Amino acid sequence: MRKYDCIIVGGGLAALTCALELSLENKKVSLFEAHEYLGGRTSSWNEKGMYVESGFHRYIGYYSNMPKVLHKAGIDLNKMVTWEEQVEIMIPDQDESVVMGVAPFFGPLKLIRSILGNNPTLSTKDKTSLISFFIFGFKDYLLNPEKLDKVSIKQYADLYHVSDQAFNYLIIPLSSGILFLPPERYSAYVFFGLFAPGIPKFYKMRIGAFLGGMSEIMCNPIGERIKECGGEIFLNQPIDSLLLSEDQSEVHGVFNGAGERIEADYVVWATSVVAMKNVFRNHFAEATWFKEIEKLKMMHACTFQIELTEPVLPKDITTFGPNTCLGSFSEQSRSTFQGSKGRLSIILTPPEKFLDLSKEKTLEIVLEDLKRVKIHIGREQIIDYQKIDHPNDFYSLAPGINQHRPTQTTPIKNLYLAGDYTLQPYFATMEGAVTSGMNAAKLVEDGNRK
Ligand SMILES: Cc1cc2nc3c(=O)[nH]c(=O)nc-3n(C[C@H](O)[C@H](O)[C@H](O)COP(=O)(O)OP(=O)(O)OC[C@H]3O[C@@H](n4cnc5c(N)ncnc54)[C@H](O)[C@@H]3O)c2cc1C
Repeated sequence: MRKYDCIIVGGGLAALTCALELSLENKKVSLFEAHEYLGGRTSSWNEKGMYVESGFHRYIGYYSNMPKVLHKAGIDLNKMVTWEEQVEIMIPDQDESVVMGVAPFFGPLKLIRSILGNNPTLSTKDKTSLISFFIFGFKDYLLNPEKLDKVSIKQYADLYHVSDQAFNYLIIPLSSGILFLPPERYSAYVFFGLFAPGIPKFYKMRIGAFLGGMSEIMCNPIGERIKECGGEIFLNQPIDSLLLSEDQSEVHGVFNGAGERIEADYVVWATSVVAMKNVFRNHFAEATWFKEIEKLKMMHACTFQIELTEPVLPKDITTFGPNTCLGSFSEQSRSTFQGSKGRLSIILTPPEKFLDLSKEKTLEIVLEDLKRVKIHIGREQIIDYQKIDHPNDFYSLAPGINQHRPTQTTPIKNLYLAGDYTLQPYFATMEGAVTSGMNAAKLVEDGNRK
């Protein structure tokens, strides 16, 4: 029988952060990941002969906990990502695109040009129509969060008379392009909340694209650091249930898929929300606190990746295709997939439309929508392609859901939660996952000091 100070269930960023923080404090930790690779929703692996990723990711310059964890793991952020100072919005069925500066300090001219410059797609009137939307949105985020979480982005944009052009070509990319959902179904609270931490840190704003597969250049090195500090990592080891005291008030460990009992003083459950619910339901279905967690609805994500004979875009930058299935996409052959001659990575929207579609049918729809934004890919250019599904992996960002997110504590003694769905200010992002992992580690350390 094995015994640890803390068992951490999961191998995504929340779990890795928690395990790293605790092992640096000389705790005897053990991390159990269900898959054969680390990273969860920030991972890269070989899928039927094609090197793929969970979906293309961007590091946002204002993140503050994630760089701390990377530093502790010995990862140089500037070698892990390449910086983008602008993004592009490709307007379907027109020959136009909007280039937006996103780095006030690192690329001020690009930002000023995109705000003040004349653009045939977004007139000065369209841009002006956004001013009160953003000012009142950030004000409501700070002073009236509950009110803001009752409405969708679309309702909020209507309230402040955002023009159709500004809505279509700016608000849609910033909603469905970033977190998959169309503005009609996306809470205005989450929308403003995602950008709000960037305001006081505007000078740090820019976007980082990964310079390699996320498991290889980020998650595995964090795992190696955990092991150097004495932590243990088990891959391919799903945890099936908790080892609880008879009255279910205290956790003493877990059981793995083979039924092996593994004991620990603390357990941090750091999976996605759906995986947590599936296991916890077997133990706590009748408990009031768990019934509250059951109210936390979930949503899917779906990505599509095409290996090509040549690059299809002149630069590897974040690109949006509003009013198409191309929520956001990027050529990646000069950044994340440098071994590829051409590589397009796409986040599909709305995700539920694609979840049950075959990859062949999805390819047809994707190629049609790419044509609408003037990207023509012939079948002879396609070497391989894969659709990567994330069913129910996210907590829903719809209005009214945020209040049901649990904190990292549970009423069960020595059982803590981590994961991007748990309550922290950064929503369903890498920074959110890392923050939840730090919080859970702190709770374990505080518990130890008592
Ligand atoms: C397509 C896509 C694009 C994204 N883009 C961005 C972006 O640009 N910027 C950004 O900041 N964030 C982005 N995110 C969000 C970010 O990836 C997530 O918020 C973050 O990775 C979540 O980490 P986590 O540790 O909470 O959960 P996960 O990464 O889901 O980790 C949970 C882990 O638990 C494991 N597990 C599940 N059940 C068990 C079990 N029973 N036993 C053992 N292990 C188990 C899983 O295999 C998984 O590895 C994106 C996500 C996706 C899917």
